[in-house]
Amino acid sequence: MIKALSTRFINLKTVSTIIGITSLTSSLYFYNKSTLAIQNDSNQLKPLFPNYIFGTKLKLKEIIQDTHDTKILKFQIPDGYNLGLSPGQPILLSLRDKQTGSLKIKPYSPLIGPEDNQDTLQFAIKLFNENGTSGALHKLEIGDEIKFRGPLPINNFKFKPEEKVNFIAGGCGITPIYSMISKLLEQGQNEIKLIYSSSHANEIILKSKIDELKSKYGDKFHVIYLSNNGYQQDVLKSKINYEFLSQNLFQNSNLIVCGSKGLTTDIKNKYLNKSLNNKLYIL
Ligand SMILES: Cc1cc2nc3c(=O)[nH]c(=O)nc-3n(C[C@H](O)[C@H](O)[C@H](O)COP(=O)(O)OP(=O)(O)OC[C@H]3O[C@@H](n4cnc5c(N)ncnc54)[C@H](O)[C@@H]3O)c2cc1C
Repeated sequence: MIKALSTRFINLKTVSTIIGITSLTSSLYFYNKSTLAIQNDSNQLKPLFPNYIFGTKLKLKEIIQDTHDTKILKFQIPDGYNLGLSPGQPILLSLRDKQTGSLKIKPYSPLIGPEDNQDTLQFAIKLFNENGTSGALHKLEIGDEIKFRGPLPINNFKFKPEEKVNFIAGGCGITPIYSMISKLLEQGQNEIKLIYSSSHANEIILKSKIDELKSKYGDKFHVIYLSNNGYQQDVLKSKINYEFLSQNLFQNSNLIVCGSKGLTTDIKNKYLNKSLNNKLYIL
């Protein structure tokens, strides 16, 4: 799984290129990208990310162990500010590794859920490499301060109320999808299906949060957890393939996918080109 997920990673060179290009095009562009979310929040508050170039420093307020290798990190949003982000927009996190002092920069997708962002900016961070950015983030302690820059641009999805929306997430690809689903459910119009595949049944990131959404919005929100390894009562032992998707997706609707390159390529090239008439968006 580590190898497969590595295809999603943006290396430091790519990150520097992104910073360079986006700095030149000015922070105004990113501010405009997030105006939809800002209008939804209190207009009295200033957005946390008004300026892409200089970034924002925030203190770590709380750490929650979500799975054996994933932590939810909650950073304090100062008084007078709000998140001002659209669901799914990634942020660049930069910090120095506590042990080696080396600088680490990688993108992560904030969790934007019903109760996630009252006063904290939250991330679910899966540990991939002790010496990498995820390792440096896992070494953080309450009170530590790190720098955030963003948001990076994404498509703003707009669906008609009668449209059904499928989501497929693989591993830590769930983080932007969780935020998008939370927002759509809160708006209360679209019927949603989530197919969420993890390499092991005990590695389902954000399961308790997703189950909370399921119990709150049961008639509008359908969830299928999948894994080929390990056992949990509500986790199906199955792979994502054409047969599975043809039986389980809402057809003639939208499909948003986030996961490893292998997963997204297989869905695009092998499974969807047969007969499922879905409009595909890959994050
Ligand atoms: C837009 C975007 C949003 C993202 N959002 C999130 C998020 O919300 N949460 C999240 O957890 N991640 C997220 N990621 C992934 C994240 O950016 C990092 O890529 C991830 O944390 C790994 O970085 P790292 O520096 O720790 O690991 P790296 O040093 O990049 O190492 C990862 C890769 O190195 C190799 N490797 C390293 N150590 C080993 C080992 N011991 N054995 C075998 N192979 C090894 C593997 O190929 C592995 O996949 C996101 C990525 C993108 C592009």
